[in-house]
Amino acid sequence: MRIKFWGVRGSTPAPQPENMRYGGNTSCVEVRHRDQLYILDCGTGFRVLGQALRREFNGSPVSAHVFVSHFHWDHIQGLPFFGPLYDNRENHFQFHCSNRTRSLKQVCEEQMASPYFPVGLHHMQARQDFYNLNEGRLELGNVCLRTKWLNHPQGCMGFRLETEDGVIVYATDNEPGDSVFDRNVRELAAGADVLIYDAQYLPDEYWAQRKGWGHSHWREAVNVAMESGVKELVLFHHDPDHDDVCIDRAVSEARNYYARVRAAAEGMQIEVPDSTHSKK
Ligand SMILES: [Zn+2]
Ligand SMILES: [Zn+2]
Repeated sequence: MRIKFWGVRGSTPAPQPENMRYGGNTSCVEVRHRDQLYILDCGTGFRVLGQALRREFNGSPVSAHVFVSHFHWDHIQGLPFFGPLYDNRENHFQFHCSNRTRSLKQVCEEQMASPYFPVGLHHMQARQDFYNLNEGRLELGNVCLRTKWLNHPQGCMGFRLETEDGVIVYATDNEPGDSVFDRNVRELAAGADVLIYDAQYLPDEYWAQRKGWGHSHWREAVNVAMESGVKELVLFHHDPDHDDVCIDRAVSEARNYYARVRAAAEGMQIEVPDSTHSKK
């Protein structure tokens, strides 16, 4: 199984030169298991993934399961720019997310409505199916998906993908400090090979100015990883105001507590189970 990061930034794209080593695109992570393609969130990195899929498939049909954690801009903004949705009637995308606040189809229609976007959802020729996710468990081919609610304004769903190659957990947009959600995220992360976790803020920044904003920091990421027996921690959803030097510093401080931690960067790949070999 392979993980590849296409967007690692939180809140809004931040394509300044000082951010380019980690990258400026918002949340999008690709997971390949056997011949199956799974996509976690559709931030602006989703557009770049679409370009790569066009090159790879070169006109052959593309299909994927797409999991959307919630509907904040940084998790859906790439949807109208994802080429494979327009290209081919045989392309097939199965979207999974909670309909608790709205359906994803409605969100897409609203996002692409006049006067915000020049073409409507009906221009997308690919087959699209929308499924409502509740907290629980879902079998999808060779993958078992488990879901839990996280602590975030309007809610955010955490995803755990279990396969025979290992377990990947994607838990972004989660604020610590609520006992129910703190337990949820630890249950989701239990024994995972790779935990991709919200580390938007620095701990001092969080405590001084950002409490109640729905995000976490690297120190809490380390707590979750250690308390859940995670094998590798990936800091994710970097603040748009944190440049490469700032993220480097956060990783090196986090390593004082937990050795197997790194920060997500655009283009970074992780092989599971062999997570010692990563390439950029
Ligand atoms: Zn976000
Ligand atoms: Zn959010």
